[in-house]
Amino acid sequence: MPMRIHDRPSPNHDPRPEGAAVDMLVLHYTGMRSGAAALERLRDPAAGVSAHYLVEEDGTVFRLVPEERRARHAGLSHWRGREGLNAGSIGVEIVNPGHEWGYRPFPALQMGAVAELCLGILARHPIPARNVVAHSDIAPDRKQDPGELFDWEGLAALGIGLWPAPAAPPPEEEARALLGRIGYRTDLPLPVLVTAFQRHWRPARVDGVADAETRARMAGLLARIEA
Ligand SMILES: [Zn+2]
Repeated sequence: MPMRIHDRPSPNHDPRPEGAAVDMLVLHYTGMRSGAAALERLRDPAAGVSAHYLVEEDGTVFRLVPEERRARHAGLSHWRGREGLNAGSIGVEIVNPGHEWGYRPFPALQMGAVAELCLGILARHPIPARNVVAHSDIAPDRKQDPGELFDWEGLAALGIGLWPAPAAPPPEEEARALLGRIGYRTDLPLPVLVTAFQRHWRPARVDGVADAETRARMAGLLARIEA
């Protein structure tokens, strides 16, 4: 049975640029006190922001913007040499108060709904696994979402995004170049980039230090990407 999606249209969208294929999936947390407040803001013409979907903590899924339209969720963003990533991405907002208002685990019901929603999106668009990213991956100097409590490993096990293969740690001086090959912009301080990487791929310790385990995971992720 296909999942039930509730329409809650937002006015905050416009046409995708001519010829723009949808080839990225960007996951966010809402970072507001409640899901209701987030839904209201994402539908407020004065706020001007939106996403294609919002997933409540109880697993309820709302559609705000049709997938063929450009929603406004990424802001200033960069991945694999491209910028302005709203043009070719689907944005999913996942309700969580976030680091500002009391960051807490994402409930299983919510994660189940996120997984089902994402599998549907991946079935409808040619999105490479390496382009399933966090908002913090594409805006590492501004954003922390969806953060280190988000179960990226579990999603990868379902075929949504990638999780690093076991690998040996490359030398420390290679860290920045490895991050660039993964997709990060490289013109930011290394601890900022390492922090973003860790939030997604080494969540047990997010400290901005490119330690051996973090570097091993960078290499392990590239092994998956370049396999
Ligand atoms: Zn975000």
